[in-house]
Amino acid sequence: MFFRLESPAYGSDYKDTFINGGGKYAYSLPGIECSECGNTWGGWETVPYPCPETMKGDKRLQQHWPIPDTEHHALRAAVLDAVVAEGHSVNNIPMGANFQPLHVRFPSTPRSDFLWPVIGSAIVSPRVKLLFETHGVTGVTFCEVVIDKVGKRDSRGPFPFPSTGEPEDIIEEVSGEQFPDRFGPLYEMVITSESGFPPGVSSSDVCTGCTRENYKENKRRIVLTQEMIPNSDVFTLATTLYIIVNERVQHMIVENRLTNAVLTSMPIESNGKKPAWLRFFSRC
Ligand SMILES: [Zn+2]
Repeated sequence: MFFRLESPAYGSDYKDTFINGGGKYAYSLPGIECSECGNTWGGWETVPYPCPETMKGDKRLQQHWPIPDTEHHALRAAVLDAVVAEGHSVNNIPMGANFQPLHVRFPSTPRSDFLWPVIGSAIVSPRVKLLFETHGVTGVTFCEVVIDKVGKRDSRGPFPFPSTGEPEDIIEEVSGEQFPDRFGPLYEMVITSESGFPPGVSSSDVCTGCTRENYKENKRRIVLTQEMIPNSDVFTLATTLYIIVNERVQHMIVENRLTNAVLTSMPIESNGKKPAWLRFFSRC
């Protein structure tokens, strides 16, 4: 049995922002304008290493603004060389790599074991890191985040309404603690393993120019089959930002009462047949 690990539904974007805050990567690969498939798009995949020192002056890595494909390929190759030169054993830089570290800002004291300031990524307490490392959980690595702000509020209390009405402005409007990093350390749980493609998707559906999956939306199915499952305890579901964990990790999360996460079962489909939809749900 496998489970999707995600943030709980808070019923309000204000409450979500109040608990989870927001985050930004200072350096990311920009979007790409692909001349082969005609799409302009940006990938999104966090990598467990920093932007190389020699590339930090390159404005294209700070602005996210899409650039033409030939330029993108050259930039990606230059980044790869620089990452390798800094001693990381990497043979490919993802199209939309987000480099370490993530900078986070919270309007209230971060108390939960899991925090969700950015889409597709979990920030965890030292307790989660220690637990996963002690049990040798595979498919993840932990990178310390930079805590830029912690607001003087209790995340269990009522959230303030921002003057602009925009949930993210809660973070700006609350007054901050003088030394936010004393609320750390906190870690980004970077997922290093990915599932295979869902059935019906073949390599001909992937653009050779930019690796975008151009299959029709009706082919895009959120399923898990035996063939898709990689050899790791945690992985992302290909073509999505879903974080999937196996039963071992699910038990660890539930038994230790780790907070601020939801686990929903992802039944395994076989021979195109849907399994009996056994929905197992735990909220911590
Ligand atoms: Zn393309």
